Amino acid sequence: MIPRVTATVDLSAIRHNLGVVRQMAPGARVMAAVKADGYGHGAVPVSRALAAAGIDCLAVACMEEAIRLRQARISTPIAVLEGIISREEAALAVYEELVVVVHDHWQLDILDQLGPQARVTLWFKLDSGMHRLGFPLADVPRLQATLAAHPGWTLAGWMTHLASADETENPFTLEQIARFEAALVGVPGPRSVANSAGLIAWPQARLDWVRPGLALYGASPLPDRTSQALGLRPAMTLESRLIAVREFEAGDTIGYSQAYRCPERMPVGVVAMGYADGILRSLPNGTPLQIRGTTVPMAGRVSMDMVTVDLRTCPHAAVGDPVRLWGPGLPAEAIAAHAGTIAYELFCGLTQRVRFVHTDA
Ligand SMILES: *Cc1c(COP(=O)(O)O)cnc(C)c1O
Repeated sequence: MIPRVTATVDLSAIRHNLGVVRQMAPGARVMAAVKADGYGHGAVPVSRALAAAGIDCLAVACMEEAIRLRQARISTPIAVLEGIISREEAALAVYEELVVVVHDHWQLDILDQLGPQARVTLWFKLDSGMHRLGFPLADVPRLQATLAAHPGWTLAGWMTHLASADETENPFTLEQIARFEAALVGVPGPRSVANSAGLIAWPQARLDWVRPGLALYGASPLPDRTSQALGLRPAMTLESRLIAVREFEAGDTIGYSQAYRCPERMPVGVVAMGYADGILRSLPNGTPLQIRGTTVPMAGRVSMDMVTVDLRTCPHAAVGDPVRLWGPGLPAEAIAAHAGTIAYELFCGLTQRVRFVHTDA
C-alpha cells in the first residue's frame, strides 16, 4: 500500500541544526525542547538522535511525555518544563531521575513531602515579564533558603522565558534579561533564558544554557530571517499524492463554498490530504504547494481528506505524482504565514493519519 500523507523526518538535519545552535552559543549547554512529540516530529526518534549527538538535556512539557522517553530507554537528563502536579508525580520524577522545573510554591510543598533527603534535581523558573509561569523575582532569597533546607536537592539552575524574543526591535527582551540578572546578582547557579528566537537574535540571552526547540527542527523562529539564511535545514518533508487531474471551463467553481472560480479553461489537481491530516482549513487560495519542484497554488477550500490545486503551472502533472506541502525549499513557516499562524502549529497539528518515516543520512 502506498502511504497517503507521509512526513519524512531527516534526523541528520536535526543533528546539523544542533551544530548550528552550538556554533551560535559556543559556551552554552543545550536543553533541546522535544515536547509535544518532538514538535510533531516524533519525540522518541528525535530524542535518540539528539542523545547520540551528545545533547546536554531534553525538555518536555509534562511527566507523561518524560515517562514515554524513559520507557523508550532514553537515559539522557530530561527536564519537565511545567514540573510536577501531584505527590505521585514528584515521587516518579525522583525515581526516573528527571529534572523538575519548579514554578510555584505549591510545587515546593509537594517536593518537600518526599522528605528533606529526597534526591531532587530542580530548576527554579522565575517570571521576568512573561507573566505565565514562574516565581516573582523577589522570591529568589526565599528559594535559596528553601534549597538550603533540603540537603537532598540539587540546583540545576535558574530559568526564565522570553515573551517577545522573535521581535528583534522590541526592547522588552533586554528588559527581561536585565531584570532576571539583577534578581540573581551574587546568587550561585547556572542561568537560562533563551528559546530559539532568543539564542539567535539576542546574544545577551545565551548565558549558561540555551533551550532551542523550533530551530532544531529547521524552521526559523524570526519573521524576518529565513531558515536558509540562518543555516538551518528543515527536518520534515510533508508530502501526499495527486489522486485526480481534471479539466474545467472558465467560470466553473471548485469544492466547498465554490471558493475558487476558474478564470479560464484549466487543469485542476486533487491531492490526498486534508484537515483530517492536519492541513489547516484556514490555508487560502494561492497557498503554494510543489509538484516535482514546480509551485502549484491551492485552488479552493481545504476539505477533510482533499486539497485542490491549480495545475496551470504544471500541465504535465499526473495522477500519482508526489505533492509537497512543506520541506526543504518550501519552509513550513512560509506556509504557516498564509494561514496567519506559525510553523509550531502546523507541526503540532499533524494527525494520526499521517505516516511518519525517519531517515538518517
Ligand atoms: C518550548 C520551550 C522552549 C523552546 O522554544 P522554541 O521557541 O521552540 O525554541 C524553551 N523554553 C521553554 C520554557 C519552553 O516551554
